Amino acid sequence: MHHLARSVRALTAVLAIILLAGCGYAADAAISTEAPRPAPTTTTTSTTTTSVPAPAPPVLVAPAIAFATGQPQLDSLLPTLPPVLLEGNATVHYGYNPLDTCCHAGGYNPEPNAVWIGESAFSSRARLTYVAAHELAHSVHIKTPRAEALTAAVAGAPSVRPGSGWDVSEKVADCVAWVLHPAETAASGITYWDCPDPWRSQVRAALQ
Ligand SMILES: [Zn+2]
Repeated sequence: MHHLARSVRALTAVLAIILLAGCGYAADAAISTEAPRPAPTTTTTSTTTTSVPAPAPPVLVAPAIAFATGQPQLDSLLPTLPPVLLEGNATVHYGYNPLDTCCHAGGYNPEPNAVWIGESAFSSRARLTYVAAHELAHSVHIKTPRAEALTAAVAGAPSVRPGSGWDVSEKVADCVAWVLHPAETAASGITYWDCPDPWRSQVRAALQ
């Protein structure tokens, strides 16, 4: 009788530990990714049983910003972008910029601090990544203490949007995209310029 009771207690304890480990794993997965498919976690459950909560803090920093643009591809992309792009705290919207003439792939309005990503940005993952990086880079350039260093980093570069008040910021935004996402930026085919050195290196340094 006593033996049975003891083994039941022991079994209950084991189950509790496994359940706890399972919960911890599911919570981590929900926080760290907004992936299209929350992949089944059956294969790794046994290894997480022994894990200590120590590695959790770095994961907890990122999800402070939740993305709900209403566009699944965009919502899944945004959390994967380098954190520096989110320093400007811009709100990202899906759709064409209401303050713009028709149909630019991306737009940025300093007031309110808003990025717009329109339908034509979605022709490829590369183009979407470039457009998001470029528009968010405008907010980093205009809304963060990096402004001065980023402007200085493109000093002396040729004009890329002649006659526009956005000329300098377009140089910066493209350079940031080239630094952070060179392959996607090249594949997008819609950049203002290719931000050669020394400007690209200078922008890279301004993002450190
Ligand atoms: Zn721009």
